[in-house]
Amino acid sequence: MGIVLGAIADDFTGATDLANTLVGEGMSVLQAIGVPHDGLPIQNADAVVVALKSRTAPADEAVAKSKAALDWLKSQGAEQIIFKYCSTFDSTAKGNIGPVADALLEAMDQDLAVICPAFPANQRTIYKGTLFVGDVPLSESSMKDHPLTPMCDSSLIRLMEAQSGNDCGLIPLETVRNGKGPIQRQIDELRNKGKRYGVVDALTDDDLHSIGAALADHKLVTGGSGIAMGLPANLRKSGKLGASNAPVLPTARGRRLVVAGSCSAATRAQIARAKVIWPTLKIDIDRMADGADEVSRGVEWATAQSGDAPVLIYGSSDPDEVAQTQAKHGTERAGQMMEDALAGIAKRLADMEFAQIFVAGGETSGAVVKALDVRALKIGPEIAPGVPWTEAIGENPLALALKSGNFGKDTFFEDAFGMLP
Ligand code: ADP
Repeated sequence: MGIVLGAIADDFTGATDLANTLVGEGMSVLQAIGVPHDGLPIQNADAVVVALKSRTAPADEAVAKSKAALDWLKSQGAEQIIFKYCSTFDSTAKGNIGPVADALLEAMDQDLAVICPAFPANQRTIYKGTLFVGDVPLSESSMKDHPLTPMCDSSLIRLMEAQSGNDCGLIPLETVRNGKGPIQRQIDELRNKGKRYGVVDALTDDDLHSIGAALADHKLVTGGSGIAMGLPANLRKSGKLGASNAPVLPTARGRRLVVAGSCSAATRAQIARAKVIWPTLKIDIDRMADGADEVSRGVEWATAQSGDAPVLIYGSSDPDEVAQTQAKHGTERAGQMMEDALAGIAKRLADMEFAQIFVAGGETSGAVVKALDVRALKIGPEIAPGVPWTEAIGENPLALALKSGNFGKDTFFEDAFGMLP
């Protein structure tokens, strides 16, 4: 039957965020890692979110990847496409959001797309075309100092005009509060004036639902994950999407493993808790630098433990120890060595009887997913807000949970495994 909704996300965690939002609206969702080349089994998914790494890539590369993702999504039946970027509109000085939006509009033969990164649950709101982070405009928030994508302007209209070279107008809050009809009329007016983008004000989830309702006929919708909230209802109303589906837990069965590379306070507290109840092993960067085979040590240790309890293999240290290690080996090299080791261990254990794997750390998750050659994640129920269990689609069937660093309470690992039968 194919999918009814497709999304192109400019980074991995942004893709997960959007996938979770759609799951929350009762859709069955697959997150593809990169543009799928050959027959990715879309199973019974209603939507596929393609996770790219295009936020800080050169603009022409971001455009090419986004167009390839679009072609694939269209080939799977998607009639409506979301271009998902961060709710803080993260873009480099030249900005990839504008060029990618321009290319998608053109490729889809559309004359206007809305711009709406609002995400009220995370305190990202838009008023008079200005993006607010909490109580302050974007350019006064900590985003002004972001190492890769510093944001020095808060006007989405100015940012979009500078990045895209096309005219951008506003659908103001007063119009949004008047509902679907007035929103659509304002969009038509912008279109008649030759505008190719319309920034939409939104302060609340209700605003986002009204905006969503007005966008049923928009083939291309751009925004943060909040903009997706109102779209599934349109698809249901038009009969393209069936009744609400509850997300299902991954079915892979096998031994349980936690791999932790995050050194955040939350992860260290979770490791401390795991040490009390499970076998744990620390991987050592100094030994690796001396040429020791830490991957084999980890694998041999894990397989020698009894299969009754999960095993935890970690690199995480406290800030003092991390600073010492970084001074000795270099920050990047130390991080890379640990990522490679943990990913190598996860890969070898996944090839054996380990089939339920929890990974702690954003970069660590990226390295593990790559080593395991995971092509897509079927999004399951949430362990905690924003962190779902997933079924990995790749070489081995796997239950996979990926958590970025500072997330979750002490019992997070056991809570996660407690959900699996
Ligand atoms: P988070 O989501 O908390 O930022 P990441 O996995 O993204 O976690 O980043 C943690 C980084 O720290 C990784 O590159 C990891 O390899 C590295 N790392 C882990 N343990 C150590 C350690 N003991 N010393 C130095 N770096 C480490």
